[in-house]
Amino acid sequence: MASQIPQITILGSLNTDLVAYVPHHPLPGETLTATSFLTSPGGKGSNQAVACAKLSRPRSLSSTPSAHVSMVGAVGSDSNGDLLLSNLTNYGIDSTLVSKLPGKKTGIAMIVVEAETGQNRIIISGEANHEVDESYVTKGGWLEKTDMLIMQLEIPMGTVLKAVEEAKGKGVDVLLNPAPAKKMPEGVYKGLKHLVVNETEAAILGGVEERELDTIQGLERVGKGFVERGVENFIATLGGRGVYYLTRDGRSGLVEAEKGVKVVDTTGAGDTFVGRYALDAAAAKKEGNKEFDIEGAVRRANKAAAVTVQREGAAASIPWRDEVE
Ligand code: ADP
Repeated sequence: MASQIPQITILGSLNTDLVAYVPHHPLPGETLTATSFLTSPGGKGSNQAVACAKLSRPRSLSSTPSAHVSMVGAVGSDSNGDLLLSNLTNYGIDSTLVSKLPGKKTGIAMIVVEAETGQNRIIISGEANHEVDESYVTKGGWLEKTDMLIMQLEIPMGTVLKAVEEAKGKGVDVLLNPAPAKKMPEGVYKGLKHLVVNETEAAILGGVEERELDTIQGLERVGKGFVERGVENFIATLGGRGVYYLTRDGRSGLVEAEKGVKVVDTTGAGDTFVGRYALDAAAAKKEGNKEFDIEGAVRRANKAAAVTVQREGAAASIPWRDEVE
């Protein structure tokens, strides 16, 4: 009998995060002493998989999750790769389709977090993530078993485009979080059930200045542009301002950010948002997408992301379901 809970698959990146906390971002030529440093599992793909898994159940892994979560991607044959794989397993994520590539290094993200603001600056060296080619889309037949596919842009663009096309043919809902933002062929938008962007991504892909997103009218204009290009549900995360959404069937709104939040580290906030939103979207898909309560999904995701910004790190800072509800 087919499973009653949705299958969410994340095709994306896995990185080791090297995180330094600093009093302020270094100026050109400046050498700074970090106030603290940590190494942790990361990568947008892996973080979003962890977000789906942690937010699908209370802390105890013996509890029943609200979704099955699988990851497709690649790590190198080094100790960082081993740690990333065990991180997935620890959260109950199926990592069978994460390849361990001989002679390759695991992806690295160098993250500098400013203490005062919690704002981060990131440099990524993709390494094994660059090897995630189009063959990963068909390997093991995972797409046939998937209800919702989540992707970002930390793996080759050709792979993302192929996956969007294949998913469309198979009736799989696609959520794309186009980070880091890169221009994409116009045709891709028609294959997107959900597009989740932050302000930078909305501006780059929407072809507008970021300040145009300061008003509801500007957000609506940009959102409508994506809907005209073929996106069904457009969602823009706006940091401390909250989240804006607009749907093809004419629903829209601004959900304000949670109040009284002391920002410690924003790393993983967007990924937490995507994970929590995807759980509701995948459940709606399983029910035939008859009535997807997008506003409810956005509210719950906004609340979960507010927990993440109050904690250090990425995967570790993402809350379990019982920490939010
Ligand atoms: P990204 O980290 O991908 O750039 P954002 O900065 O837009 O994403 O943050 C994602 C989400 O995290 C926001 O939409 C909001 O829900 C939450 N968030 C971020 N900053 C704050 C804040 N200062 N207060 C409350 N929630 C926040």
